[in-house]
Amino acid sequence: MKTTALVLANDNNKKMQMVNHLTATGLFAQIKPLNSTSALFQHLKSKPADMICWAIEKKNRKSDWINKLQALEQWHDLPLIAFAEDQQSLIDGFELGASDAVHVEIDPTELSVRMHRHLQRWQRLLELRKSQEQLQKMALTDPLTQLGNRATFDMSIKQAAARTQRSGIPYSLLMIDLDHFKAFNDTHGHQVGDTILKLVAEAIHLAARDADICCRYGGEEFAVILPDTKAKQAEVLAERIHKQVAKVSSAQPLERRPITVSIGISSATRRNNIHPRILIEEADQALYLAKEKGRNRTEIWRPDYIVPQMRFTCHPSPQLAFGA
Ligand code: GH3
Ligand code: MG
Ligand code: MG
Repeated sequence: MKTTALVLANDNNKKMQMVNHLTATGLFAQIKPLNSTSALFQHLKSKPADMICWAIEKKNRKSDWINKLQALEQWHDLPLIAFAEDQQSLIDGFELGASDAVHVEIDPTELSVRMHRHLQRWQRLLELRKSQEQLQKMALTDPLTQLGNRATFDMSIKQAAARTQRSGIPYSLLMIDLDHFKAFNDTHGHQVGDTILKLVAEAIHLAARDADICCRYGGEEFAVILPDTKAKQAEVLAERIHKQVAKVSSAQPLERRPITVSIGISSATRRNNIHPRILIEEADQALYLAKEKGRNRTEIWRPDYIVPQMRFTCHPSPQLAFGA
């Protein structure tokens, strides 16, 4: 275990005494003496820490820095050990929020056992946090393409719509569908089909800006949500996607039909299409038109465009809750 202890004390003698105590435990790879709480926060901005040991002053006991530290999620549970010179200071240490308080003259073996216990707990917490982050990532990521999954899409489009409702700045949606994809599967098998899906996902990701949210909507369909973006800008992204997909296609060593995509775009520019459900329907209709017009192209939804099979009549009011 490569552990770091930060030692905080105004008085140099106390600081050295604490450093010596901690060194004797043999538990720390690094022990860093610090003079002030501002130096402490500066350190925590970029460097690791597994424990903070501080010399509690008999007078002038300030706890602001402890409150500030414990308000930061990352450091909330970091072991915080008060080194005290008398009984009252030990009690004060706990009251100020320390995880433990020890007398400065503590027996070295007892100190070692206590520190070891705190470090074990901290390490377990770090591992737990890591696995929680991994689980969260898995819950939001499509395992084949590594783009956002349907849950990410549903959540992000609601957020983008809510943002537009507040700001009045439009948001846009691209629905992207691979052309004649079934034929790839039928000719080359599903594993080649999967590889193509991955390559197209990569092409979409490469073409998109950081703020764009790229997702696999389902099967061989992808979606890109563009917060704060008008249709014209969305069209520029669609063009970049076509170009990236063409690159992927020409780089394929196997002889087969070119890989292309059709794209439908809709933007929430009017009061009555701000709801995600409406925008998805419109982008779907535009995609349908792109397919009808010969594929490998982009269409932008227009109010006068009505697909008989996909006609929808219900335009909910803009006040409709996005959670619905
Ligand atoms: P169109 O141009 O009209 O979109 O034609 P298409 O062949 O792409 O559309 P269709 O809906 O007929 O076929 C979609 C195919 O996508 C069928 C399905 O097997 C395939 N597919 C969906 N998900 C996956 C996947 O995860 N892996 C693979 N390899 N194929 C998939
Ligand atoms: Mg499809
Ligand atoms: Mg398709």
